Order: sequence, then structure tokens, then C-alpha cells
Amino acid sequence: MKCFIHENEDAVGVCKHCSKAVCKKCAVPNDLNFLVCSEACKQEAILYQVMMEKSKMAYGLKPGRLPATIIVYLLIGVVFVLFGCITISFSAEWVYGLLPLIFGVVFILGGAISIYNQRKSGLRV
Ligand SMILES: [Zn+2]
Ligand SMILES: [Zn+2]
Repeated sequence: MKCFIHENEDAVGVCKHCSKAVCKKCAVPNDLNFLVCSEACKQEAILYQVMMEKSKMAYGLKPGRLPATIIVYLLIGVVFVLFGCITISFSAEWVYGLLPLIFGVVFILGGAISIYNQRKSGLRV
């Protein structure tokens, strides 16, 4: 494959945006992991990349995609934490509040980690 401008130069790749073959001299330097043939193509390619990322993000973060189990985890966690806090604050035997408090925090953390993993896997799709 030869460069689309320099007929004698071997192409190092194709432009991400217009798919023209470009040689070392023509490839526009950039800190992205793809080749572009011109400044205009670079801008277009970046724009496209950003759009793709955004649509992926939107897909991953749709509230409807949050499984009910995670919401239940978070709710149980909040209830336990509240229960623990109230017991610690108002009960003479405040030690009994520690267990539900820890239990609740674990549930909330579990839910948070699930959400985090979901978002991560959503981005990769
Ligand atoms: Zn191009
Ligand atoms: Zn060239």
C-alpha cells in the first residue's frame, strides 16, 4: 500500500476518518492511538471518538439498567446504618448498634461496588 500523496512512499496506515493511506510524512502527529491524514480529519476523528464515548457512557449509566438487587442492597444497608446509629445514639447498650452499623456499611459498599463494576463493563461493550 502506498501513500495517497507520495506514490513512492509506503503507507504506515490509513486515516482514521477518511481511510486514505498515509505515509510517515503525511500522518499528522497526535497523541491519540490512531493515524490521521490532515488536521481536519484529526478534529473529525476526535469528535467521533468523543461522541462514541458519550453514547457508551449514556448507555452504561441509564437508571433503568440498575438491577433491583443493587437497589435492595443499598436500601437494606441504609436501614441497618440508620438502625445502628439510632441504637448507638439513644441506647444505653450502644455496643449493640455497632453490628448493624457495620452490616449496613458492608451492604452499601457491596451495592456501590456492583454499580462501579456495571459502569465499567458498560463502557467496555
Ligand atoms: Zn483523512
Ligand atoms: Zn505521504
